[in-house]
Amino acid sequence: MRPIQASISSSALQHNFGIVKQHATTAKVMAVVKANAYGHGLIHVAHALNDADGFATLNLSEAIDLREAGIEQDILLLEGVFSEEELRIAASFEISIVVHHASQIKMLENAKLTRPIHVYLKMNTGMNRLGLLPSEYLSSYQQLNACQNIGDITLMTHFATADDDIGIAAPLKQFNETVKTLTAPMSLANSATILRHPEAHADWVRPGIMLYGATPVGGTLASKFDLKPVMQLTSAIIAVQTLAKGESVGYGASFTASKQTRVGIVACGYADGYPRHAPSGTPIAVAGAMTKTLGRVSMDMLFCDLTNLPEVNVGTPVELWGNIISVDAVAEASGTVGYELLCAVAPRVPVKVIA
Ligand SMILES: *Cc1c(COP(=O)(O)O)cnc(C)c1O
Repeated sequence: MRPIQASISSSALQHNFGIVKQHATTAKVMAVVKANAYGHGLIHVAHALNDADGFATLNLSEAIDLREAGIEQDILLLEGVFSEEELRIAASFEISIVVHHASQIKMLENAKLTRPIHVYLKMNTGMNRLGLLPSEYLSSYQQLNACQNIGDITLMTHFATADDDIGIAAPLKQFNETVKTLTAPMSLANSATILRHPEAHADWVRPGIMLYGATPVGGTLASKFDLKPVMQLTSAIIAVQTLAKGESVGYGASFTASKQTRVGIVACGYADGYPRHAPSGTPIAVAGAMTKTLGRVSMDMLFCDLTNLPEVNVGTPVELWGNIISVDAVAEASGTVGYELLCAVAPRVPVKVIA
C-alpha cells in the first residue's frame, strides 16, 4: 500500500475544544462538522467531541449518520432543508434547521410534521449570502412563532469580516437592534468571532476551523491561540534522484538545478489533496527536518530537496503538514487557506484515528 496517511488526533480535538471553552466560558458549543468534519472524518470527530452541546453540518444524510452513530446532542443543518420530504425526516430525527429564506417559512407552514422542529432563524447582516434582511426579520419571526410545526427559535447571523480589521461592530449592532424586543437564544460566533470578539459570543458558539487546529485569522499562527493541529498528513520517500547542474525535475521542467541536487520523490500528489498550486519552495518535513518542495506537484507524487539530508533514502517518513509544518504554512505558500487544504484531503487517503 502507498505510505500516505492522515492521522487524526482525538486529544488535539479535545484540547482545541478546551480552547473554545476558555474563550466562550458560558456559551453552549455547536461544533461545526460540515465537509466531513473539515476532512477529518465525521463520526470519529463527533465522538471525540462528545462534550459539545451540538453539531452543525450541511446534508440531512450526514445528520442522520450522526444520529445513527449514537449522537444525542442537537444537530443543526446549516442550509436548512431542500424539500418538504427532508423537512419531515429532519423533524422525525429531531434535527434542527436553519431558516434563511421566505420559501422555507412557507414550507414549514404547509408541512405536516410528526413533532415540532427547532429552527435557527438567520439574519443577513451584510455577508449577503444567506439570511433574511433585518427589515423582514421580525415579521418572519412572528410567522414562525405562530406556526404549530415550530418548536424553539434561535436567532442567528454569520459575520463576513470577523477575521480581519473591518471587524463586526456594524453587523453586530444591526443584529442587536433588530432583535432587541425578542427573548430567544442567539448564535453568532464562528471561530474568528470566538477568538477576537467576546462581545458576540451569545448563547451558542459555532466553532469550525479552530477545533481542527488551523488558524481562522490570516497572518496569525494557530499556535498563537494555543491551538494544536489535529491532522498530520504523512507519506514517505519512494525514490531518490540526483540532478546534475542544469537538469530539471517533473512536468514542465519548472525546477532546474543550479547545482548538483538530491531530490526525493514523495508518494503524495494533488489526487491526494495536496495543492497543485504549491510552488517550488513550499515547506515540507523529511525525517523530521524542514526542507522544501521542488518543481510541479503531479497527481500522485511531488518532489523535495534532499541535498542537505544525505542520510534520507527510500522509506524515510515525510510530513506534508501536521506537527512540524502547519497546514496554514502550506496554504499560504499555495495562495489559499488551511480550510481548503483540510477539506480537500481525498477519500483515497487512509485515515488513522490516534489518541
Ligand atoms: C462554516 C460555518 C461556521 C464555522 O466557521 P469557522 O470559520 O470554521 O469557525 C460557523 N457558522 C456557519 C454558518 C458556517 O457556515
